[in-house]
Amino acid sequence: MTSLLRTQAFVNGQWISTDQHFNVYNPATSAVVATVTQADSALTLAAIAAAEQALGPWQQLLPKQRAELLRQWQHLILAHQHELAALMTAEQGKPLAEALGEIEYGASYFDWFTGEAERSYGTLLAQGQEGQKSWYQAQGIGVCAAITPWNFPHAMIARKVAPALAAGCTIVIKPAEATPLSALALAQLAQDAGIPAGVVNILPTADPALVGDILTTHPSVKKLTFTGSTKVGKQLMAQCASTLKKVSMELGGNAPFIVFDDADLELAVQALMQCKFRNAGQTCVSANRVFVDASVQPQFIALLKTELSKLNVGSGLDPSVDYGPLINQAAIDKVSTLVRDAVQQGATLLMGGHSLAEQGPLFYAPTLLTGVMASMRIAQEEIFGPVIAVQSFQDEAEAIQIANAVPVGLAGYFCTENYRRIERVSQQLECGMLGINTGAISHAYNAFGGVKESGIGREGSPLGLAEYQEIKNITIGDL
Ligand code: NAD
Repeated sequence: MTSLLRTQAFVNGQWISTDQHFNVYNPATSAVVATVTQADSALTLAAIAAAEQALGPWQQLLPKQRAELLRQWQHLILAHQHELAALMTAEQGKPLAEALGEIEYGASYFDWFTGEAERSYGTLLAQGQEGQKSWYQAQGIGVCAAITPWNFPHAMIARKVAPALAAGCTIVIKPAEATPLSALALAQLAQDAGIPAGVVNILPTADPALVGDILTTHPSVKKLTFTGSTKVGKQLMAQCASTLKKVSMELGGNAPFIVFDDADLELAVQALMQCKFRNAGQTCVSANRVFVDASVQPQFIALLKTELSKLNVGSGLDPSVDYGPLINQAAIDKVSTLVRDAVQQGATLLMGGHSLAEQGPLFYAPTLLTGVMASMRIAQEEIFGPVIAVQSFQDEAEAIQIANAVPVGLAGYFCTENYRRIERVSQQLECGMLGINTGAISHAYNAFGGVKESGIGREGSPLGLAEYQEIKNITIGDL
Protein backbone atom coordinates (compact mmCIF):
# COMPACT_ATOMS: atom_id res chain seq x y z
CA MET A 1 0.00 0.00 0.00
CA THR A 2 2.82 2.37 0.85
CA SER A 3 6.54 2.07 1.38
CA LEU A 4 5.93 3.30 4.95
CA LEU A 5 3.76 0.37 6.05
CA ARG A 6 5.53 -1.17 9.07
CA THR A 7 4.03 -3.96 11.15
CA GLN A 8 6.69 -4.66 13.78
CA ALA A 9 7.52 -2.87 17.00
CA PHE A 10 10.34 -0.30 16.85
CA VAL A 11 12.78 -0.65 19.74
CA ASN A 12 16.35 0.56 19.98
CA GLY A 13 16.42 1.39 16.27
CA GLN A 14 15.31 -2.09 15.25
CA TRP A 15 12.09 -3.58 13.89
CA ILE A 16 11.11 -6.44 16.19
CA SER A 17 8.40 -9.13 16.13
CA THR A 18 6.96 -11.13 18.98
CA ASP A 19 4.90 -14.31 18.65
CA GLN A 20 1.63 -12.37 19.12
CA HIS A 21 -0.14 -10.18 16.62
CA PHE A 22 -3.32 -8.15 16.19
CA ASN A 23 -5.30 -6.86 13.25
CA VAL A 24 -5.77 -3.26 12.21
CA TYR A 25 -9.09 -2.69 10.41
CA ASN A 26 -10.24 -0.14 7.86
CA PRO A 27 -13.37 1.36 9.44
CA ALA A 28 -14.81 2.26 6.02
CA THR A 29 -14.78 -1.34 4.77
CA SER A 30 -14.10 -3.50 7.85
CA ALA A 31 -11.23 -5.09 5.85
CA VAL A 32 -7.96 -5.95 7.59
CA VAL A 33 -5.37 -3.30 6.67
CA ALA A 34 -2.45 -5.03 8.37
CA THR A 35 -1.51 -7.52 11.06
CA VAL A 36 0.80 -5.95 13.61
CA THR A 37 3.18 -7.31 16.23
CA GLN A 38 1.91 -7.10 19.78
CA ALA A 39 4.49 -5.81 22.27
CA ASP A 40 4.90 -8.03 25.32
CA SER A 41 6.44 -7.33 28.73
CA ALA A 42 9.97 -8.21 27.61
CA LEU A 43 9.79 -5.83 24.66
CA THR A 44 8.36 -3.07 26.85
CA LEU A 45 11.25 -3.45 29.29
CA ALA A 46 13.70 -3.51 26.36
CA ALA A 47 12.21 -0.26 25.04
CA ILE A 48 12.60 1.46 28.41
CA ALA A 49 16.19 0.19 28.69
CA ALA A 50 16.96 1.45 25.18
CA ALA A 51 15.46 4.86 25.96
CA GLU A 52 17.51 5.03 29.14
CA GLN A 53 20.71 4.10 27.35
CA ALA A 54 20.11 6.64 24.61
CA LEU A 55 19.32 9.41 27.09
CA GLY A 56 22.85 10.52 28.03
CA PRO A 57 24.19 11.01 24.51
CA TRP A 58 20.94 12.64 23.40
CA GLN A 59 20.99 15.09 26.32
CA GLN A 60 24.59 15.94 25.63
CA LEU A 61 23.87 17.13 22.11
CA LEU A 62 23.61 20.88 21.78
CA PRO A 63 19.98 22.03 21.57
CA LYS A 64 20.83 23.22 18.07
CA GLN A 65 22.01 19.72 17.09
CA ARG A 66 18.81 18.15 18.40
CA ALA A 67 16.84 20.78 16.55
CA GLU A 68 18.64 19.95 13.32
CA LEU A 69 17.67 16.27 13.63
CA LEU A 70 14.06 17.19 14.42
CA ARG A 71 14.03 19.49 11.40
CA GLN A 72 15.25 16.64 9.22
CA TRP A 73 12.48 14.40 10.61
CA GLN A 74 9.91 17.10 9.91
CA HIS A 75 11.27 17.49 6.38
CA LEU A 76 10.81 13.76 5.73
CA ILE A 77 7.30 13.81 7.22
CA LEU A 78 6.27 16.55 4.81
CA ALA A 79 8.04 14.86 1.91
CA HIS A 80 5.98 11.71 2.60
CA GLN A 81 2.74 13.43 3.58
CA HIS A 82 0.65 11.72 0.89
CA GLU A 83 1.78 8.23 1.95
CA LEU A 84 1.26 9.07 5.62
CA ALA A 85 -2.21 10.45 4.90
CA ALA A 86 -3.19 7.35 2.89
CA LEU A 87 -2.10 5.14 5.78
CA MET A 88 -4.08 7.26 8.24
CA THR A 89 -7.25 7.19 6.15
CA ALA A 90 -6.91 3.43 5.82
CA GLU A 91 -6.69 2.80 9.56
CA GLN A 92 -8.71 5.73 10.92
CA GLY A 93 -11.27 6.55 8.23
CA LYS A 94 -11.01 10.34 8.03
CA PRO A 95 -11.12 11.97 4.58
CA LEU A 96 -7.75 12.13 2.84
CA ALA A 97 -7.78 15.93 2.81
CA GLU A 98 -8.24 15.93 6.59
CA ALA A 99 -5.50 13.34 7.00
CA LEU A 100 -3.17 15.56 4.96
CA GLY A 101 -4.19 18.49 7.15
CA GLU A 102 -3.33 16.44 10.22
CA ILE A 103 0.14 15.60 8.86
CA GLU A 104 0.79 19.29 8.24
CA TYR A 105 -0.61 20.18 11.66
CA GLY A 106 1.63 17.54 13.31
CA ALA A 107 4.64 18.81 11.35
CA SER A 108 3.94 22.33 12.63
CA TYR A 109 4.77 21.07 16.14
CA PHE A 110 8.18 19.92 14.92
CA ASP A 111 8.66 23.34 13.40
CA TRP A 112 7.60 25.07 16.62
CA PHE A 113 9.69 22.97 18.98
CA THR A 114 12.85 23.00 16.87
CA GLY A 115 12.70 26.75 17.50
CA GLU A 116 11.83 26.33 21.17
CA ALA A 117 14.72 23.88 21.64
CA GLU A 118 17.11 26.71 20.89
CA ARG A 119 15.33 29.16 23.22
CA SER A 120 15.45 27.44 26.61
CA TYR A 121 16.93 29.76 29.20
CA GLY A 122 17.80 29.75 32.88
CA THR A 123 17.50 32.62 35.35
CA LEU A 124 20.25 34.19 37.43
CA LEU A 125 18.84 34.90 40.88
CA ALA A 126 19.38 38.02 42.94
CA GLN A 127 22.46 37.63 45.13
CA GLY A 128 21.29 36.90 48.67
CA GLN A 129 24.62 36.30 50.35
CA GLU A 130 28.08 37.69 49.91
CA GLY A 131 30.28 35.32 47.87
CA GLN A 132 27.42 33.22 46.56
CA LYS A 133 25.83 32.97 43.17
CA SER A 134 22.57 31.13 42.38
CA TRP A 135 20.62 30.40 39.27
CA TYR A 136 18.13 27.92 38.05
CA GLN A 137 18.05 26.21 34.71
CA ALA A 138 15.82 23.76 32.89
CA GLN A 139 16.93 20.34 31.77
CA GLY A 140 15.23 17.43 30.05
CA ILE A 141 13.22 15.33 32.46
CA GLY A 142 14.58 11.95 31.25
CA VAL A 143 12.85 8.92 29.77
CA CYS A 144 9.22 9.72 28.89
CA ALA A 145 6.31 7.41 28.10
CA ALA A 146 3.57 8.54 25.72
CA ILE A 147 0.14 6.91 25.37
CA THR A 148 -1.96 8.29 22.53
CA PRO A 149 -5.51 7.96 21.11
CA TRP A 150 -6.81 6.85 17.72
CA ASN A 151 -8.63 10.02 16.67
CA PHE A 152 -5.46 11.90 15.62
CA PRO A 153 -2.97 9.05 15.20
CA HIS A 154 -0.19 11.28 13.84
CA ALA A 155 -0.72 14.65 15.49
CA MET A 156 -1.17 13.38 19.05
CA ILE A 157 2.24 11.75 18.76
CA ALA A 158 3.88 14.75 17.05
CA ARG A 159 2.60 17.04 19.82
CA LYS A 160 4.44 14.91 22.38
CA VAL A 161 7.53 13.62 20.63
CA ALA A 162 8.64 16.98 19.24
CA PRO A 163 8.83 18.82 22.59
CA ALA A 164 10.17 15.73 24.39
CA LEU A 165 13.06 15.32 21.98
CA ALA A 166 13.66 19.06 21.78
CA ALA A 167 14.00 19.16 25.58
CA GLY A 168 16.55 16.33 25.51
CA CYS A 169 14.25 13.49 26.58
CA THR A 170 13.96 10.05 25.01
CA ILE A 171 10.58 8.41 24.61
CA VAL A 172 8.64 5.15 24.53
CA ILE A 173 5.31 5.52 22.70
CA LYS A 174 2.28 3.25 22.96
CA PRO A 175 -0.11 4.21 20.15
CA ALA A 176 -3.81 3.33 20.21
CA GLU A 177 -4.65 -0.24 19.19
CA ALA A 178 -6.87 0.95 16.31
CA THR A 179 -4.18 3.11 14.69
CA PRO A 180 -0.61 1.88 15.21
CA LEU A 181 0.40 2.21 11.53
CA SER A 182 0.68 6.01 11.53
CA ALA A 183 2.95 5.76 14.58
CA LEU A 184 5.15 3.07 13.05
CA ALA A 185 5.51 5.04 9.81
CA LEU A 186 6.67 8.01 11.87
CA ALA A 187 9.30 5.80 13.49
CA GLN A 188 10.64 4.78 10.08
CA LEU A 189 11.01 8.45 9.16
CA ALA A 190 12.75 9.16 12.49
CA GLN A 191 15.27 6.47 11.65
CA ASP A 192 15.71 7.84 8.13
CA ALA A 193 16.24 11.31 9.60
CA GLY A 194 19.15 10.04 11.70
CA ILE A 195 17.45 10.19 15.12
CA PRO A 196 19.75 7.87 17.12
CA ALA A 197 18.62 4.37 18.12
CA GLY A 198 16.69 4.25 21.40
CA VAL A 199 15.63 7.92 21.34
CA VAL A 200 12.20 7.01 19.92
CA ASN A 201 10.61 3.59 20.54
CA ILE A 202 7.14 2.43 19.50
CA LEU A 203 5.20 -0.39 21.16
CA PRO A 204 2.04 -1.40 19.28
CA THR A 205 -0.38 -3.55 21.24
CA ALA A 206 -4.03 -4.50 21.54
CA ASP A 207 -3.47 -5.15 25.25
CA PRO A 208 -2.87 -1.58 26.44
CA ALA A 209 -2.91 -2.44 30.14
CA LEU A 210 -0.02 -4.86 29.82
CA VAL A 211 2.31 -2.25 28.30
CA GLY A 212 0.71 0.63 30.21
CA ASP A 213 1.19 -0.98 33.62
CA ILE A 214 4.91 -1.26 33.02
CA LEU A 215 5.30 2.23 31.56
CA THR A 216 3.45 3.84 34.45
CA THR A 217 5.25 2.02 37.25
CA HIS A 218 8.81 1.54 35.97
CA PRO A 219 11.22 3.73 37.98
CA SER A 220 13.30 4.66 34.91
CA VAL A 221 10.31 6.37 33.29
CA LYS A 222 10.22 9.89 34.70
CA LYS A 223 7.16 11.25 32.93
CA LEU A 224 3.92 10.08 31.36
CA THR A 225 2.32 12.17 28.65
CA PHE A 226 -1.18 10.89 27.90
CA THR A 227 -3.96 11.86 25.54
CA GLY A 228 -7.21 9.97 25.85
CA SER A 229 -10.32 9.66 27.97
CA THR A 230 -10.67 11.13 31.45
CA LYS A 231 -11.45 7.66 32.83
CA VAL A 232 -8.21 6.09 31.60
CA GLY A 233 -6.24 9.26 32.41
CA LYS A 234 -7.28 9.08 36.05
CA GLN A 235 -6.31 5.43 36.23
CA LEU A 236 -2.89 6.03 34.67
CA MET A 237 -2.23 9.00 36.93
CA ALA A 238 -2.95 6.83 39.96
CA GLN A 239 -0.53 4.22 38.62
CA CYS A 240 2.13 6.90 38.13
CA ALA A 241 1.81 7.93 41.77
CA SER A 242 3.78 4.90 42.94
CA THR A 243 6.98 6.39 41.47
CA LEU A 244 5.74 10.00 41.52
CA LYS A 245 6.13 10.49 37.78
CA LYS A 246 5.38 13.87 36.30
CA VAL A 247 2.24 13.70 34.18
CA SER A 248 0.70 15.62 31.31
CA MET A 249 -2.94 14.71 30.76
CA GLU A 250 -4.91 15.76 27.67
CA LEU A 251 -8.30 14.27 28.46
CA GLY A 252 -11.90 14.37 27.41
CA GLY A 253 -14.00 17.48 26.89
CA ASN A 254 -17.66 18.47 26.66
CA ALA A 255 -17.31 21.75 24.80
CA PRO A 256 -20.10 24.31 24.99
CA PHE A 257 -20.79 26.29 21.81
CA ILE A 258 -22.88 29.34 22.72
CA VAL A 259 -24.71 31.41 20.13
CA PHE A 260 -25.78 34.75 21.64
CA ASP A 261 -28.58 36.88 20.25
CA ASP A 262 -26.07 39.42 18.92
CA ALA A 263 -24.04 36.82 16.97
CA ASP A 264 -23.50 36.89 13.22
CA LEU A 265 -25.59 33.75 12.68
CA GLU A 266 -24.04 32.78 9.36
CA LEU A 267 -20.57 33.00 10.85
CA ALA A 268 -21.74 31.03 13.90
CA VAL A 269 -23.08 28.23 11.69
CA GLN A 270 -19.80 28.10 9.76
CA ALA A 271 -17.79 27.93 13.00
CA LEU A 272 -20.03 25.19 14.37
CA MET A 273 -19.83 23.11 11.18
CA GLN A 274 -16.06 23.47 11.24
CA CYS A 275 -15.58 22.22 14.78
CA LYS A 276 -18.41 19.67 14.82
CA PHE A 277 -17.84 17.60 11.70
CA ARG A 278 -14.06 17.44 11.59
CA ASN A 279 -13.12 13.78 12.02
CA ALA A 280 -16.87 12.89 12.03
CA GLY A 281 -17.19 14.65 15.39
CA GLN A 282 -14.57 12.42 17.00
CA THR A 283 -12.45 15.18 18.45
CA CYS A 284 -11.91 16.21 22.04
CA VAL A 285 -12.51 19.89 21.18
CA SER A 286 -15.67 19.20 19.18
CA ALA A 287 -18.74 21.27 20.14
CA ASN A 288 -20.67 18.81 22.29
CA ARG A 289 -23.40 21.06 23.67
CA VAL A 290 -24.79 23.81 21.47
CA PHE A 291 -26.58 26.60 23.37
CA VAL A 292 -28.65 28.99 21.29
CA ASP A 293 -30.43 32.11 22.56
CA ALA A 294 -34.13 31.28 22.25
CA SER A 295 -34.83 34.54 20.37
CA VAL A 296 -32.53 33.60 17.44
CA GLN A 297 -33.01 29.83 17.50
CA PRO A 298 -35.48 29.60 14.56
CA GLN A 299 -33.14 31.50 12.19
CA PHE A 300 -30.08 29.62 13.46
CA ILE A 301 -31.69 26.20 13.02
CA ALA A 302 -32.87 27.08 9.50
CA LEU A 303 -29.32 28.05 8.46
CA LEU A 304 -27.89 24.96 10.14
CA LYS A 305 -30.30 22.60 8.38
CA THR A 306 -29.23 24.00 5.01
CA GLU A 307 -25.58 23.33 5.82
CA LEU A 308 -26.25 19.85 7.21
CA SER A 309 -28.16 18.85 4.11
CA LYS A 310 -25.05 19.60 2.00
CA LEU A 311 -22.85 17.12 3.91
CA ASN A 312 -21.56 14.17 1.95
CA VAL A 313 -20.71 11.09 4.02
CA GLY A 314 -18.64 8.19 2.69
CA SER A 315 -15.22 6.62 2.30
CA GLY A 316 -12.35 8.95 3.14
CA LEU A 317 -10.77 8.06 -0.19
CA ASP A 318 -13.57 9.86 -2.07
CA PRO A 319 -12.41 13.50 -2.41
CA SER A 320 -16.01 14.79 -2.32
CA VAL A 321 -16.64 13.39 1.15
CA ASP A 322 -17.02 15.68 4.20
CA TYR A 323 -16.66 13.00 6.80
CA GLY A 324 -16.06 9.27 6.97
CA PRO A 325 -16.97 6.36 9.25
CA LEU A 326 -16.79 6.28 13.03
CA ILE A 327 -13.89 4.28 14.39
CA ASN A 328 -15.69 1.07 15.41
CA GLN A 329 -19.01 -0.55 16.33
CA ALA A 330 -18.76 0.62 19.94
CA ALA A 331 -18.64 4.22 18.69
CA ILE A 332 -21.76 3.71 16.52
CA ASP A 333 -23.54 2.05 19.45
CA LYS A 334 -22.66 4.92 21.78
CA VAL A 335 -23.87 7.64 19.39
CA SER A 336 -27.09 5.72 18.61
CA THR A 337 -27.78 5.18 22.30
CA LEU A 338 -27.25 8.84 23.20
CA VAL A 339 -29.54 10.03 20.39
CA ARG A 340 -32.24 7.48 21.26
CA ASP A 341 -32.06 8.40 24.94
CA ALA A 342 -32.37 12.14 24.15
CA VAL A 343 -35.46 11.52 21.99
CA GLN A 344 -37.00 9.32 24.69
CA GLN A 345 -36.39 12.11 27.21
CA GLY A 346 -38.21 14.64 25.02
CA ALA A 347 -35.67 16.06 22.54
CA THR A 348 -36.85 16.65 18.95
CA LEU A 349 -35.00 14.88 16.14
CA LEU A 350 -34.91 17.28 13.17
CA MET A 351 -32.43 15.42 10.94
CA GLY A 352 -30.57 12.10 10.86
CA GLY A 353 -30.61 9.92 13.94
CA HIS A 354 -29.64 6.74 12.11
CA SER A 355 -26.65 4.95 10.68
CA LEU A 356 -26.03 4.88 6.93
CA ALA A 357 -25.97 1.16 6.30
CA GLU A 358 -25.69 1.61 2.53
CA GLN A 359 -22.23 3.13 3.07
CA GLY A 360 -21.11 0.46 5.57
CA PRO A 361 -21.82 -0.47 9.18
CA LEU A 362 -19.81 2.37 10.75
CA PHE A 363 -21.28 5.43 8.99
CA TYR A 364 -23.70 7.70 10.85
CA ALA A 365 -25.94 10.38 9.34
CA PRO A 366 -25.53 14.09 10.15
CA THR A 367 -27.92 14.52 13.04
CA LEU A 368 -29.67 17.53 14.53
CA LEU A 369 -31.55 17.51 17.84
CA THR A 370 -33.31 20.43 19.50
CA GLY A 371 -34.99 20.68 22.88
CA VAL A 372 -32.04 18.96 24.55
CA MET A 373 -31.91 19.38 28.32
CA ALA A 374 -28.77 19.66 30.46
CA SER A 375 -29.75 16.56 32.41
CA MET A 376 -29.81 14.27 29.35
CA ARG A 377 -26.93 11.85 28.79
CA ILE A 378 -26.19 13.48 25.43
CA ALA A 379 -25.39 16.72 27.25
CA GLN A 380 -23.42 15.04 30.02
CA GLU A 381 -21.18 12.74 27.95
CA GLU A 382 -18.83 13.20 25.00
CA ILE A 383 -20.92 12.28 21.92
CA PHE A 384 -17.87 11.70 19.70
CA GLY A 385 -20.03 11.59 16.57
CA PRO A 386 -21.72 13.79 13.93
CA VAL A 387 -24.57 14.96 16.15
CA ILE A 388 -25.54 18.54 16.97
CA ALA A 389 -27.50 18.67 20.23
CA VAL A 390 -29.13 22.09 20.74
CA GLN A 391 -30.29 23.52 24.06
CA SER A 392 -31.87 26.95 24.28
CA PHE A 393 -31.28 29.67 26.86
CA GLN A 394 -32.88 32.97 27.86
CA ASP A 395 -29.94 35.13 28.95
CA GLU A 396 -26.16 35.26 29.28
CA ALA A 397 -26.06 34.29 32.94
CA GLU A 398 -28.09 31.15 32.28
CA ALA A 399 -25.88 30.16 29.30
CA ILE A 400 -22.72 30.48 31.38
CA GLN A 401 -24.21 28.64 34.31
CA ILE A 402 -25.27 25.59 32.24
CA ALA A 403 -22.07 25.64 30.17
CA ASN A 404 -19.97 25.40 33.34
CA ALA A 405 -22.12 22.76 35.02
CA VAL A 406 -19.99 19.78 33.92
CA PRO A 407 -16.90 18.28 35.54
CA VAL A 408 -14.67 18.81 32.45
CA GLY A 409 -13.36 21.98 30.78
CA LEU A 410 -11.31 21.50 27.62
CA ALA A 411 -12.54 23.76 24.78
CA GLY A 412 -15.39 26.26 24.73
CA TYR A 413 -16.80 28.43 21.95
CA PHE A 414 -19.11 31.38 21.73
CA CYS A 415 -20.35 33.72 19.05
CA THR A 416 -21.18 37.38 19.57
CA GLU A 417 -20.44 40.71 17.93
CA ASN A 418 -20.38 42.50 21.29
CA TYR A 419 -16.90 43.29 22.57
CA ARG A 420 -17.95 43.82 26.20
CA ARG A 421 -19.67 40.44 26.13
CA ILE A 422 -16.50 38.87 24.73
CA GLU A 423 -14.57 40.22 27.73
CA ARG A 424 -17.21 39.11 30.24
CA VAL A 425 -17.92 35.64 28.93
CA SER A 426 -14.22 34.86 28.30
CA GLN A 427 -13.52 35.43 31.98
CA GLN A 428 -16.38 33.26 33.18
CA LEU A 429 -16.35 30.13 31.01
CA GLU A 430 -14.48 27.29 32.71
CA CYS A 431 -12.30 25.83 29.97
CA GLY A 432 -8.66 25.72 28.92
CA MET A 433 -9.23 27.03 25.38
CA LEU A 434 -11.78 29.42 23.96
CA GLY A 435 -12.81 30.01 20.37
CA ILE A 436 -14.75 33.24 19.81
CA ASN A 437 -16.50 33.45 16.44
CA THR A 438 -14.32 30.57 15.24
CA GLY A 439 -14.31 26.79 15.42
CA ALA A 440 -10.56 26.43 14.74
CA ILE A 441 -8.48 26.85 17.88
CA SER A 442 -5.73 24.27 17.62
CA HIS A 443 -2.32 25.55 16.45
CA ALA A 444 1.25 24.84 17.53
CA TYR A 445 1.59 28.41 18.82
CA ASN A 446 -1.53 28.04 21.03
CA ALA A 447 -1.56 26.52 24.53
CA PHE A 448 -3.60 23.32 24.11
CA GLY A 449 -5.02 21.79 27.26
CA GLY A 450 -7.87 21.71 29.70
CA VAL A 451 -9.00 22.66 33.20
CA LYS A 452 -11.08 20.64 35.69
CA GLU A 453 -11.16 16.94 34.73
CA SER A 454 -9.98 17.68 31.19
CA GLY A 455 -6.38 17.48 32.17
CA ILE A 456 -3.09 18.79 33.42
CA GLY A 457 -0.49 20.65 31.40
CA ARG A 458 -0.35 22.31 27.98
CA GLU A 459 0.87 21.23 24.56
CA GLY A 460 2.33 23.70 22.07
CA SER A 461 2.87 27.43 22.75
CA PRO A 462 5.85 28.79 24.72
CA LEU A 463 4.63 26.60 27.62
CA GLY A 464 4.95 23.27 25.83
CA LEU A 465 8.68 22.66 26.21
CA ALA A 466 8.59 23.07 30.01
CA GLU A 467 6.28 20.02 30.24
CA TYR A 468 9.36 17.93 29.37
CA GLN A 469 11.83 19.80 31.58
CA GLU A 470 12.69 19.95 35.22
CA ILE A 471 14.14 22.90 37.04
CA LYS A 472 17.50 22.59 38.73
CA ASN A 473 18.59 25.33 41.12
CA ILE A 474 22.35 25.75 41.43
CA THR A 475 24.19 27.72 44.10
CA ILE A 476 27.96 28.31 44.13
CA GLY A 477 29.46 29.35 47.44
CA ASP A 478 32.94 30.62 48.32
CA LEU A 479 33.28 32.81 45.25
P1 NAD B 1 -8.90 5.90 25.65
O1 NAD B 1 -8.66 6.59 26.93
O2 NAD B 1 -9.77 4.72 25.63
O3 NAD B 1 -7.51 5.43 25.03
C1 NAD B 1 -6.43 6.31 24.90
C2 NAD B 1 -5.16 5.52 24.94
O4 NAD B 1 -5.05 4.89 26.21
C3 NAD B 1 -5.09 4.40 23.90
O5 NAD B 1 -3.78 4.29 23.44
C4 NAD B 1 -5.44 3.17 24.72
O6 NAD B 1 -4.89 1.99 24.20
C5 NAD B 1 -4.78 3.54 26.03
N1 NAD B 1 -5.28 2.77 27.18
C6 NAD B 1 -6.54 2.41 27.47
N2 NAD B 1 -6.57 1.72 28.63
C7 NAD B 1 -5.29 1.67 29.08
C8 NAD B 1 -4.65 1.10 30.21
N3 NAD B 1 -5.33 0.45 31.15
N4 NAD B 1 -3.31 1.24 30.35
C9 NAD B 1 -2.60 1.90 29.42
N5 NAD B 1 -3.14 2.45 28.31
C10 NAD B 1 -4.47 2.35 28.16
O7 NAD B 1 -9.39 7.04 24.66
P2 NAD B 1 -9.70 6.88 23.10
O8 NAD B 1 -11.04 6.29 22.97
O9 NAD B 1 -8.55 6.26 22.38
O10 NAD B 1 -9.70 8.41 22.67
C11 NAD B 1 -10.80 9.22 22.82
C12 NAD B 1 -10.65 10.08 24.06
O11 NAD B 1 -9.47 10.86 23.98
C13 NAD B 1 -11.78 11.06 24.18
O12 NAD B 1 -12.18 11.14 25.52
C14 NAD B 1 -11.14 12.38 23.75
O13 NAD B 1 -11.78 13.52 24.25
C15 NAD B 1 -9.76 12.22 24.25
N6 NAD B 1 -8.85 13.09 23.53
C16 NAD B 1 -8.32 14.16 24.19
C17 NAD B 1 -7.48 15.03 23.53
C18 NAD B 1 -6.89 16.22 24.25
O14 NAD B 1 -5.93 16.75 23.75
N7 NAD B 1 -7.41 16.62 25.39
C19 NAD B 1 -7.14 14.80 22.20
C20 NAD B 1 -7.69 13.69 21.55
C21 NAD B 1 -8.54 12.83 22.24
